[in-house]
Amino acid sequence: MEQALFQRPKKRLLIGFLILSTVCLAAVFYAVWRISYLGLMEVWLALPVVVGSVFLAVVTLSLFGIFNMVLAIKGWPSVSLFQKQTYALINILFPTVVRLGSLFGINRRQLEGSFIAVSNLLFSRRNIRVPAEKLLVVTPHCLQLASCPHKITRDPSNCKRCGGCNIGDLVKLSEEMGFLFFVATGGTLARQIIKQNRPKAVLAIACERDLMSGIQDVYPLPAVGILNIRPNGPCYNTRVDMEEFKRVLEKIVIPKEEWNGQGTGNSGRDSSCGA
Ligand code: SF4
Repeated sequence: MEQALFQRPKKRLLIGFLILSTVCLAAVFYAVWRISYLGLMEVWLALPVVVGSVFLAVVTLSLFGIFNMVLAIKGWPSVSLFQKQTYALINILFPTVVRLGSLFGINRRQLEGSFIAVSNLLFSRRNIRVPAEKLLVVTPHCLQLASCPHKITRDPSNCKRCGGCNIGDLVKLSEEMGFLFFVATGGTLARQIIKQNRPKAVLAIACERDLMSGIQDVYPLPAVGILNIRPNGPCYNTRVDMEEFKRVLEKIVIPKEEWNGQGTGNSGRDSSCGA
């Protein structure tokens, strides 16, 4: 069940290309080091060793970050402190990953999808659960029917719930369950919403590109992503699979009765939230 929730694109794709990118980086470092060896020695006798050590440290750290991510994906003990560095590493290597991917017929969207699958699995491995009012659900504006005259950014309760798009379903569910729901027109507004509401977890609905940057942006706040559905192409009258959304909600929201019994302090089960 846990796996089924977060498993659309292949996680191996990103891992494989990250390893390949690191190997390419190591080859480039080695070539640069060999070519500049004599020149470096002329500057200072020990400089080739210093430069070589720096290159080696970068490659070793990169491989360790990937290895650590694989351990976390498998649910084996890993160094959680390195998660931020791993995101930084993915950011640095991603342009190379995309170029290498294109040589193998893999497009950017597939790789971004793979990142989201990896990130979602890491989220589920942490067993993060929060009370509904501490969960922020955020969607892009394109989920609203383009012809809808009601202004729902900033205040989604302006939606009349006519059934024309999924915004009405989400507003209704947020009122029933009590989670925070906002429609954000961009990353800046999303960050503002997070700052003002101080959620303990974020559930974002968006395309691969926005989810990938959003998940990295909000770190260390735990974030889980659901890919939107684009029957009309990107950024226009998009949809969300409400059944998938409810399944993810069920997994991360602590039911009210259970939460009331625990009081307002952190329970053992959501102790990793906001870490
Ligand atoms: S459900 Fe809400 S946002 Fe969507 S078209 Fe109807 S009124 Fe507009």
